[in-house]
Formats: sequence, structure tokens, C-alpha cells
Amino acid sequence: MTGRLKPLVAGNWKMNGLRSSLEEIRAIAAFAGAGLPPLADIVICPPATLLTAAAEICKGSLLHLGGQDCRAEISGAHTGDISAEMLADAGASYVILGHSERRAGHGESNAAVQAKSQAAFRAGLIPIICVGETQAERDAGLALEVVGGQLSGSIASSAEGRIPVVAYEPIWAIGTGVIPTQKDIVEMHAFIRRELGINLASQGDAVEILYGGSVKPHNAGELARLENVNGVLVGGASLKSADFIQIVKAFA
Ligand code: PEP
Repeated sequence: MTGRLKPLVAGNWKMNGLRSSLEEIRAIAAFAGAGLPPLADIVICPPATLLTAAAEICKGSLLHLGGQDCRAEISGAHTGDISAEMLADAGASYVILGHSERRAGHGESNAAVQAKSQAAFRAGLIPIICVGETQAERDAGLALEVVGGQLSGSIASSAEGRIPVVAYEPIWAIGTGVIPTQKDIVEMHAFIRRELGINLASQGDAVEILYGGSVKPHNAGELARLENVNGVLVGGASLKSADFIQIVKAFA
């Protein structure tokens, strides 16, 4: 069950995609612009190199675009980095922040993710803030504690009252084909909902909580029925438009 929040289905292409891959975005944009009532928000986060061209394709469709990371500063001597303003200028309206591959591979702390979240709001982007435990942390009974710490340390809301999206992505489920039991997902999403209430007061109820980790066309339907699962963040299965559209249909 998705409650009263509009579902959000977001695709994270990671470091995949050349200009030839824009055909996949064209197909998703055509699906999103086919006169269907917009029952779900749909977002693709391609590599930054494809954003401008993808934005051209998305004109007039209901497909939104996102970045996969940003730097907190607006501009400056930060070779190789991209600001939230640059993503917005290239056509993004969302940005994934604090993905486990960045927390682990780039040493991103909760404080860094929170600064990036504030930068996203400054630029008019909606941050999709990722949280999730390792297998060892789950085995040790620490999953809720870890995710609670990531949430309170990483999330921000804007002065104007804009709110982030949160993606629960257990690290052991990413790219493995393994997903948690329905009971564990419901327990974690209920916990995140409670923590959002503590951190964002009444705004916490309006935050979309996505599940991410090995979401595929065959399991999207069951995920869509779970309490407090307001959408999904999809990695591998977002690279093929046909698979991604199947997943969107499960939520729309
Ligand atoms: C991800 O990395 O955000 C992700 C959910 O990947 P996958 O769907 O491939 O597990």
C-alpha cells in the first residue's frame, strides 16, 4: 500500500550510458507523455554527461531527470565536481544523495550528505537521500540504529518548507538479486516514518519513502502493496526501458 502519497519511481543509471542509451530515455518519456494520468512521478538519473541531451528529449513529457550526486558549494576550484545549480541548469529536478556507493567509495559522511541536501534545496532540486545498513550490521541487530543515525545526520528540509525523498537501500540488497522479507521492509519503513516525524515534525508524513535494492519487474507489484513504501529506487532494471516501465506500472 502506498498510502496517500503519490508514488515515485526513480531510476539510477550509475556510471552506465552513452549517447546511444538516450533511446531508452526516449521510450520512457514517450510512455510518460502518452496521455496517461500522472499517477506516479517518474525520474531517471543518467550520468551527468547525458543530462542536457536527455532534457531535450523529455521536453513536453512527464519524465523528470535527476543527478546522481552534487557538491555542496555553488562553484569554485573543485576539479571534477558538479554543483546542484549545474544539475538544475542541465535539466535535473532531483538529485540522489548519500548513495551507499558514494558513502563507501568516496567516504561521504552524514554531515556531507546533509550539506549536499541543503545545496539541492538551494538550487531548487529535490534530494533523494539514501540510507541503508550492511549485512553485518543487520546480522548484529543494528539495522534500525544505523538507519536512524544516517537519517538524523543526513536529512534537511528547506527554509521554505520543501522536503526530501528518502530511499531505504539495504546495501546487501543492491545488485545482488536478494531483497529483504516483506516484514523487514515494512518494519524498516515504519521506523523511518517515525524517525522522519521526529526530525521533520509534521512534514515527516509528507516524505516519500522509497525502497531500493534489486527491484525488478517481477517483485515490483508486491513492493507496491507494502505500507509506507511510496515508490522505488531502481538500479540495474532502470537501464532497460521495458523493464523500468513495467516497474512504473506496478506503482501507477
Ligand atoms: C541502487 O544502486 O540504487 C540499486 C537499487 O541498484 P539495483 O536495483 O541494481 O539493486
